[in-house]
Amino acid sequence: MHGYGGRILHVDLSRGTYTITAFDEAFAQTFLGGNGFAIRLLYEHVPPGTDPLSPQNMIVFAVGPLTDTPVPGATRCCAATKSPLTGLFCDSTFGGMFAAMQKRTGFDAIAIRGRAPQPVYLLVHEEGAVLKPADDLWGRFTRDTNQAIRQREGEEVEVLAIGPAGENRVRFACAVHTWERSRDGVAGRGGLGAVMGAKNLKAVAVRGTRKTTVADPEALKALLAEVREPMKVGTAALKEFGTTVLVTLINRIGALGTRNLQSEVYPQAEAISGEAFKADFFVKDTTCFKCPVACGKDFHVREGEYAGTAWKMPEYETIYAFGSMLDNPHRASIVKANELCDQLGMDTISLGVTLALCLRVRGARPALSGTDGGALALWRLPHHAGAHRSHRLPPRLWRPLGRGFGAAGSAAGPRKRTSTSTPSKASSCPPTLPVSSKA
Ligand code: SF4
Repeated sequence: MHGYGGRILHVDLSRGTYTITAFDEAFAQTFLGGNGFAIRLLYEHVPPGTDPLSPQNMIVFAVGPLTDTPVPGATRCCAATKSPLTGLFCDSTFGGMFAAMQKRTGFDAIAIRGRAPQPVYLLVHEEGAVLKPADDLWGRFTRDTNQAIRQREGEEVEVLAIGPAGENRVRFACAVHTWERSRDGVAGRGGLGAVMGAKNLKAVAVRGTRKTTVADPEALKALLAEVREPMKVGTAALKEFGTTVLVTLINRIGALGTRNLQSEVYPQAEAISGEAFKADFFVKDTTCFKCPVACGKDFHVREGEYAGTAWKMPEYETIYAFGSMLDNPHRASIVKANELCDQLGMDTISLGVTLALCLRVRGARPALSGTDGGALALWRLPHHAGAHRSHRLPPRLWRPLGRGFGAAGSAAGPRKRTSTSTPSKASSCPPTLPVSSKA
């Protein structure tokens, strides 16, 4: 069967065992791969009413038939689970090199359930998998964990790890893959990191050498030659600025959420535009495996309060969440917030909009500070980019915000109106965040 390894790896963390199942062409054609496989596996194995943070929940990493072929942009991995933030199915795709390496193990999907008695990481190889102790990695930042596992298992291994936020089950915790050679990937939305943390699963590592075959290599080559030029032209802005190019465009059409959606036009949008970020911080382009677009950028803050910060570029959504939503035109603080969220393993969008809600809803102050004054400190930060100090807070202080936007809103109750304020759109938001993919 071309395009597939044809196998699914099922891991039970509670028992410390795994099984391998094969699938046929009919299954492949029906569910295709990626989130199609993930939905099928979750539907089959996660009973209705399952608590997302219980051992019965499942995490699926799935790739598709084009992964690790010459087709550009097909090197993203789908990470799916029942979300602790929404209680619904969620999937989040991430770039880098993990997906291609997973494909080389011969497992198109890795399905993980149960709960390990102690912190572990899972190493998946061509013959199956092994669980390794991760007590010494617990509490460590995501990049550090990625590096430590590569040092133990070899440089060819690719890793996705959670940080302290996932360990503490922050419901919008993410998982981070750092690819030393180029573009990192973050499975950001929906709380995958919290599910991993609840399973005592610090990281998943993959290593393999299997090749993906295509049915007609010559026809594929011809097709790629045909689309090369249109793709180059169509993605030129993305190549130049990455997704930050969207800030100006979206502000221009009146859709850039501002001050917790009090407005859809941000008067200081120019200060947080892709052009401004690139002019100040650009170091080099980065890209996912075999993708000619190279929409990733590495940034370096050279001066000011955050001088020395060297991290990947914040994506458009991060700039929106820590910039216009918080009325924060301070570019360097957004780069810093992005770094700290990635290192702690927290979704930048969810944290930014939750802080925006807290800033806006006056009534939230007693509710959020009643049990925990630390939450109050988050909204008094100089540039309002709350994440830049959240790493100093002990885990118990994250909890009031760790339940996410909807929970924070419910805790806050109705916002106290002032004579100059207009009604907030946030007050009518649904109790959960929409879940979508993020680079
Ligand atoms: S480099 Fe950008 S365009 Fe290319 S696959 Fe990665 S996220 Fe997509």
